[in-house]
Amino acid sequence: MLQIKPKKIELYGIKDIDRLPQLQKLSAADRLAIKAVAQVLPFRVNNYVVEELIDWENIPDDPIFRLTFPQGEMLSPESLDKVIWHLQNSTREDLRLVVNAIRSQLNPHPAGQVEYNVPTLDGKRVPGIQHKYPETVLIFPTAGQTCHAYCTFCFRWPQFVGMDGIKFATRESGLFQDYLRQHQEVTDVLITGGDPMTMKARHLSLYIEPLLGEGFEHIQTIRIGTKSVAYWPYRFVTNEDADDVLRLFEKVTLAGKHLAIMAHYDHWKEIETEIAQAAIRHIRTTGAQIRTQAPLMRGINDSSQVWTRMWQEQVRLGCVPYYMFMERDTGAKHYFEVPIVQAWEIFQAAIQKVSGLARTVRGPVMSALPGKVAVDGVAQIKGEKVFVLSFLQGRDRDWCKRPFFARYDEKANWLTDLVPALGEKEFFYEQQLQEILKIQSQVSNIHR
Ligand SMILES: *Cc1c(COP(=O)(O)O)cnc(C)c1O
Ligand code: SF4
Repeated sequence: MLQIKPKKIELYGIKDIDRLPQLQKLSAADRLAIKAVAQVLPFRVNNYVVEELIDWENIPDDPIFRLTFPQGEMLSPESLDKVIWHLQNSTREDLRLVVNAIRSQLNPHPAGQVEYNVPTLDGKRVPGIQHKYPETVLIFPTAGQTCHAYCTFCFRWPQFVGMDGIKFATRESGLFQDYLRQHQEVTDVLITGGDPMTMKARHLSLYIEPLLGEGFEHIQTIRIGTKSVAYWPYRFVTNEDADDVLRLFEKVTLAGKHLAIMAHYDHWKEIETEIAQAAIRHIRTTGAQIRTQAPLMRGINDSSQVWTRMWQEQVRLGCVPYYMFMERDTGAKHYFEVPIVQAWEIFQAAIQKVSGLARTVRGPVMSALPGKVAVDGVAQIKGEKVFVLSFLQGRDRDWCKRPFFARYDEKANWLTDLVPALGEKEFFYEQQLQEILKIQSQVSNIHR
């Protein structure tokens, strides 16, 4: 066994942009741009990412630098100028107003997360959970609504900047347990954030351990969505409660449930370090399975070689590739977005070079209002060029795996850019979707 030196986490934020020695090679104007964007979108990075993941010889192109450090182009030129001007000339209060206005323009809640996915129990909304697909409930523990570093593309960014009224969080797990007891159709609980692995083991266990006992026999799988394997792998190796976390994982698997660590890795660089691989080994000794997922983003991982190498490495280390997502329609979307056709080309070029064990991955996938839509490919049907699409998950479960067709469009970036092909007026699910949404918004208006 290699000896791994423990590291104590240090978090860096806006105030450190002028202090970090690594950033001194940037021009003052570039640093100012980082500071300006960081007023609007959340910025946080830690000493592991700075010291071991980013290649400072290669900034600003280094993918992990782009992943964690805001870039001026992430805002529109007008917004950027405005923030810079107010940073230098204005009161904190005026700056705050400007920043909030810009945030509201960045579509803080894509895909109807608030209106349509928050369920009710005995006539009351259950805050901090989302239930969109029958078999899986998402829970957002209050203490897990932060991360060991923030991704510049984060689609949960409003949580981190404290935008009023749109924060998801559940303070205590009681209500959530009642909800699960009443929903026998649920097989999977997905604990998510932020990053629940920022929580102490003791705290995390308050959400997990009850599910191992009586009344929760229908829960087969506990998933934990986490980026800590990439941003802070010490969590599972040398942190003071690393052992407690591993024992908690073991408890789940010994209780006869499946524990799936849904690990967010954006680039193979994140699994190259000794500590990152040690974290994977430690997690796997508990009987937990690691499944991997990431969005496809311009400037970070928009090449098939990056994905091929990442999936190969993951399989070598015993992880199961699971999703390649399309970047969501929020935040600095315009900066990262990759058109649908290009996303499919990257996916297709990458997957053909890996063995069947890595072809478990599904993609490119859009988590959109009606459900999770996969882009299966491009085809010619009766002389018309079309996208072939299908649901992996739908608001109506019967939509799953029914192919449907959209007009080929090189510029389309998201499901909402697409129109039906082959003379159809609307996609097969649209009327039913309107009905489902109408019922759900009535329910949530009554119980608000
Ligand atoms: C992706 C997702 C799930 C899980 O879907 P799987 O197909 O089981 O991976 C559950 N709920 C929501 C809201 C999701 O976006
Ligand atoms: S790890 Fe996930 S929740 Fe955290 S900043 Fe990145 S994308 Fe957002």
